[in-house]
Amino acid sequence: MVTGLAAFDLTGRTALVTGSSQGIGRALAGGLAAAGATVAVHGRDAGKAARAADEISEATGARTVSAVFDVTDAAAVDAGIAALEAEFGTPDILVNNAGIQRRAPIAEFTDADWHELVETNLSSAFHLSRRVARGMIERGSGKLIQIGSVQSQLARPSIAPYAATKGAIVMLTKGLCADLAPHGVQANAIAPGYFATELTQALVADEGFSAWVRGRTPAGRWGEVDDLVGALVFLASGASDFVNGQTIYVDGGMTAVV
Ligand code: NDP
Repeated sequence: MVTGLAAFDLTGRTALVTGSSQGIGRALAGGLAAAGATVAVHGRDAGKAARAADEISEATGARTVSAVFDVTDAAAVDAGIAALEAEFGTPDILVNNAGIQRRAPIAEFTDADWHELVETNLSSAFHLSRRVARGMIERGSGKLIQIGSVQSQLARPSIAPYAATKGAIVMLTKGLCADLAPHGVQANAIAPGYFATELTQALVADEGFSAWVRGRTPAGRWGEVDDLVGALVFLASGASDFVNGQTIYVDGGMTAVV
């Protein structure tokens, strides 16, 4: 067992971070690259993913590649992972970060939005985890990391379907642990609080809501995407080999207090 700070070193490891062309995923991909991993930077927009991959490589000196597929398309997921496996084998680290938000009062929530949320935030995590787990089982090691949300614990008006997908991520993580721990694979999740990204643009612009976030968060501020990197590097590295099935809330204390 590697101990001390060396346990956090990701040199020689490979990672796929879905939805890393911007926002939280991009910071997470940058953090893994800075820790030494070779990182596949992913999104639907090929140009945006390639630009982010180049910028991360330039900033960290790490090798990056770009991966482009729609996480809601199970066949595209299979093909995307097969292409990565041809390039560098089954990733040592999979971060299921790609996600969307849809808001409306429940009586007005459309079927289309419900299905899009479930496919993007939940079914994708199942498809990607299942596909990558096969190679991890064969190798006898791997780190599956899901990105959840404080909304797995805290509901608010107009987000019941989003909260349902993020609540399910907590139990998907525990179930993956039950299946995969005997194979040397760890499955954990990170649940962010409120972070200013494209996904929360409208909330940030709403000064009343923005002030509510600051007041409701014991740390007194919105999260900054780099706040998430420490927890991710820990969960992606050998430092967390005995941590399994857990969700770490990185939320400035929001879910710890009423
Ligand atoms: P952004 O909207 O900024 O980024 C979303 C990323 O996901 C983009 O790279 C986008 O790529 C990709 N993506 C979306 N849909 C698909 C799809 N169908 N197939 C492939 N890629 C897709 O979001 P955030 O960075 O804010 O959020 C990232 C994750 O963090 C989400 O799971 C979100 O639920 C979670 N989260 C966010 C919080 C916040 O406050 N921001 C709080 C708690 C959790 P492209 O543009 O190319 O489609």
